[in-house]
Amino acid sequence: SGGAQASYLQNLNPEQRRAIETTEGPVLVLAGAGTGKTRVLTTRIAHIIASGLAFPSQILAVTFTNKAAREMKERIGHLLGGVAEGMPWLGTFHSIGTKILRRHAELVGLRSDFTILDTDDQIRLMRQVIQAENIDEKRWPARALAAFIDGWKNRGLTPDKVPSGESAAFANGRGGKLYAAYQERLKQLNAADFGDLLLENLRLFREHPDVLQSYQDRFRYILVDEYQDTNVAQYLWLRLLAQGRRNVSCVGDDDQSIYGWRGAEVDNILRFEHDFPGAVVVRLERNYRSTGHILAAASHLVAHNEGRLGKTLHTEDEPGDKVTLTGAWDSEEEARLIGEEIEALQTKGHSLAQMAVLVRISAQMREIEDRFVTLGLPYRVIGGPRFYERLEIRDALAYLRCVANPTDDLAFERIVNTPKRGLGDATLEQMHAFARKARVPLMQAARMLVETDELKPKPRTALRDLTTAFARWAAEVERMKHNELAELVLEESGYTEMWQKDRTAEAAGRLENLKELVRSMEEFPDLGAFLEHVSLVMEASDNDSAEKVSIMTLHGAKGLEFDTVFLPGWEEGLFPNQRALDESGKAGLEEERRLAYVGITRARRRCKIYFASNRRIHGMWQSTIPSRFIDELPEKHVEVTEAPAHYGGYGGSRFDRVQPFGSSYDTPGWQRAQARSRESGGGFGESRQSAYGGGGAGRKGPLLIEGELVAKSSVG
Ligand code: ATP
Ligand code: MG
Repeated sequence: SGGAQASYLQNLNPEQRRAIETTEGPVLVLAGAGTGKTRVLTTRIAHIIASGLAFPSQILAVTFTNKAAREMKERIGHLLGGVAEGMPWLGTFHSIGTKILRRHAELVGLRSDFTILDTDDQIRLMRQVIQAENIDEKRWPARALAAFIDGWKNRGLTPDKVPSGESAAFANGRGGKLYAAYQERLKQLNAADFGDLLLENLRLFREHPDVLQSYQDRFRYILVDEYQDTNVAQYLWLRLLAQGRRNVSCVGDDDQSIYGWRGAEVDNILRFEHDFPGAVVVRLERNYRSTGHILAAASHLVAHNEGRLGKTLHTEDEPGDKVTLTGAWDSEEEARLIGEEIEALQTKGHSLAQMAVLVRISAQMREIEDRFVTLGLPYRVIGGPRFYERLEIRDALAYLRCVANPTDDLAFERIVNTPKRGLGDATLEQMHAFARKARVPLMQAARMLVETDELKPKPRTALRDLTTAFARWAAEVERMKHNELAELVLEESGYTEMWQKDRTAEAAGRLENLKELVRSMEEFPDLGAFLEHVSLVMEASDNDSAEKVSIMTLHGAKGLEFDTVFLPGWEEGLFPNQRALDESGKAGLEEERRLAYVGITRARRRCKIYFASNRRIHGMWQSTIPSRFIDELPEKHVEVTEAPAHYGGYGGSRFDRVQPFGSSYDTPGWQRAQARSRESGGGFGESRQSAYGGGGAGRKGPLLIEGELVAKSSVG
């Protein structure tokens, strides 16, 4: 209706309106942080629906996280005031890829109830594949193969397409063959890993043009947020779908490309203009999020990068508070200072929900969490140490997966002897051999095996009890509430009891987590929906809107905004992260710098940077030096604050090295720190590995384009 149209288009600037109202043909919005890109996408969807150009179900919108998808859904509903019927296809590349794949699974050799493997299952399966080839696993670890295979999948390469040079890099040229064997195993297990969700879509579209055509016809409008972080597979997928009607609009910021280590390629921005000639390119230059000093500090910092498209950013907001820089003696003091600052703001009436602590690696979280617990400050960890990746949760999920899908071999293998049922290696090997010979899933093999006289009495009874129990539980799926069933399964299997009898310090926490798992299932209609959620969720399950401080990684903060942002750990080695520098050199450094830009630009009114002179790394205290990014901040937009003297290990001259904002990392101190870090086995590298699960294969160099390099602000 006209009234609705007037209201949602109000208060937009002319460029934003252009990006929204150019509904037909390709549109690319390239703009810096906080300029309203996401708002443009959301409003565009509302506009398309309100103008009657398409039904919601004919719109495909891709966001970077599930959380962003949920928020966008809410806002569209709000903008339209409930006039629209149904909702667009709105989700991450993976969730939409999964939806499409389930509809056509049989065309790519899967069943529609295929299992989505997580990293842990993936590694175990690769280990089996490596062992089956008699390859020395110590020399050629499964993790390394996983990195290669993920890299190939990110680039849309099926086993037959792997360049021989790259195949040669693993196990003396057997990389490609192992990849093929691994894919074969996945199919036998009716399983897909994360990379497959899109790769199998690509195969589906290529081998079944009629299926592709049906989606090209359906999706009249396609929209993509955070476009700078798409990888090649995602880009190819998008291009196939968009080539039908060509109504594709992408928004992104090359300065916020922070997933290169996971295969994202900022060159996709250039490819877009090439593949969709005549695209309307819109630049947004007004930042609506941050005050002047914050925007100036961020712009100045990222201008140190060479590989940029370059852009102008200004704000009409007031200069506001300067970015603050605070040095702490050690990471404990850093956590204490942040806690005090939060309490002070709270006393002045600021909302905890508008505060966030953004860390470089998730290992930084523990000290901050501990401090908040001591202070009684409510907080939530977003995307941090993932609940679903804890041992007891993974075991419990394996039980539930077996109940839902008796052919889930990996899950069955995980719990067949957990808790201990006296099934030795010999019995398990017998079971495997039987399954291979009879070409049946493991659980069925177990069921058949106990009817023979091949097993000794004790394992035979144990295995019979277990398979009978699974049959009983599976029968209950239709009858019982799924969370009650989960509780029953954990009780009757002896799993809960195993932890009740356990005397280690963690046992109580594990039992608490199991309870939490059962509780969380209530939110889902049934067991299948819950398991689907678990396989897709990359963020923490915690989604309540209560008054809490958010703690998350810089990577996880993309697209978000808070009044106050705390940025701890700005030290060489930690940030920029040593591993990124070692693996990718200058490109790695520039990606780290973009991460700093993302961090600062999350702040609306207050941005607080910290560094500690001493930090524990792998349990050992090490002295550190301030990050080079601190030197790169523009002095006039930054205020150096003093930590209270009673904490201080080093006196009034503590910032001598930081000021006068010159080059400090090139000092002997820096070299010493580097050497120390090497001696201790690579410094922060391992932490990054554990926080992000590796990646790096298939990485390409930075985007280097001649062009304007402008970063100015209305301030100063
Ligand atoms: P990022 O690059 O960090 O993802 P973005 O470009 O997507 O940022 P948005 O999150 O869409 O930016 O917008 C930033 C903030 O500015 C939001 O709070 C948004 O509501 C606000 N905003 C955007 N456009 C306008 C406008 N025309 N008038 C008022 N506020 C606006
Ligand atoms: Mg955004």
